[in-house]
Amino acid sequence: MTGAFDNLSPQLRQVQEQGLYRKRRILESAQGVEVRMDGRELLNFSSNDYLGLASHPEVVKAMIKGAQHYGVGSGSAHLLCGHSKAHHALEEELADFTGRDRALLFSTGYMANLGVITALLGRGDAVFEDRLNHASLLDGGLYSGARLKRFRHADVDALAAAVQKIPAENRLIVSDGVFSMDGDLAPLPGLAKIAADNRAWLMVDDAHGIGVLGDKGSGSCGHFGLTPLQAPVLMATLGKAFGVFGAFVAGSDALIETLIQRARTYIYTTAMPAALAEAGRAALRLVIAEDWRRDRLAALTQRFRKGARQLGLQLPDSGSAIQVVRLGDSQRAVAVSEALLQQGWLVGAIRPPTVPRGTARLRITFSAQHQFAHVDRLLDALEKMRL
Ligand SMILES: *Cc1c(COP(=O)(O)O)cnc(C)c1O
Repeated sequence: MTGAFDNLSPQLRQVQEQGLYRKRRILESAQGVEVRMDGRELLNFSSNDYLGLASHPEVVKAMIKGAQHYGVGSGSAHLLCGHSKAHHALEEELADFTGRDRALLFSTGYMANLGVITALLGRGDAVFEDRLNHASLLDGGLYSGARLKRFRHADVDALAAAVQKIPAENRLIVSDGVFSMDGDLAPLPGLAKIAADNRAWLMVDDAHGIGVLGDKGSGSCGHFGLTPLQAPVLMATLGKAFGVFGAFVAGSDALIETLIQRARTYIYTTAMPAALAEAGRAALRLVIAEDWRRDRLAALTQRFRKGARQLGLQLPDSGSAIQVVRLGDSQRAVAVSEALLQQGWLVGAIRPPTVPRGTARLRITFSAQHQFAHVDRLLDALEKMRL
């Protein structure tokens, strides 16, 4: 018998043959630098837990205490009875932290991006996105019904030309602060200038910059000294450097009220558990207080870049904790990642469609919990791979 969806299995086989098949590994330990996965002890260079907070005792304790007080389930959406004192306190603390009027929690970063862009834009508007923006930003742009214009990666002049060519009532320029699969920083001052010159708004997704860059972890906006007026929409996640889960948008009172009224991914979903908000508060205190985590991360990254250069590896420019070794071919990237795994190194092979075709790569991420010896041993392993 033949019918609809008969082509699923052949399609899957094809994906496999192209080296693009995605498989999950099973984690058996806490998240951290040393993990147990599929029955093996591995040194982890693939996590976004940049500051090493995902298993921090104070964060864990805050979550347990939160669960004891609030229970596990939040019971409903924020607009019904799911918005707890813990959520509210975290929002106020995040507003303070980011120097904005207010902040609003979303259950995930994906939902935050979808919610913001669709709440702000509709038919007749225009959204300008860096080509390498995170999938959730591009999806938000598509879904909004606004005209979506993607501009060349980090190319301020290309953006300027596009903005001048497309006159629309509301224009939103959207960029990752730190690009998730390359680790480079967006040219935020240039983007902000174009926004200001054209009465457009700039939205920054700082999933990989918040906590890592800038004074006290204020992120890529802090790093560049961008004011809230220059970057009126700031989105960041709590699942990476904060080591927790969820996301937030920070901005003016009018922006946040608009999101509460209109962002469908905010309105029509269950609030994140209050215990997670308590964990987020504990993580925020550590992010602000413990500069040594950022200093260490920067030192580890510098050591890696220097060592890699000595090996003759061409690393793209990256001032973040994300370091990339481009291999091009997907099969090769998978083979190298697999060979590293055999030696106890967990390094991700990033392939299309996550990155453009022909640019498969190893994505190496550091955590404040890594030791210098870990970096040196990883470099030894890479040297033996003869990349
Ligand atoms: C991880 C990520 C997101 C999505 O955040 P989640 O909380 O994991 O859904 C959005 N934008 C960027 C740039 C990211 O790296």
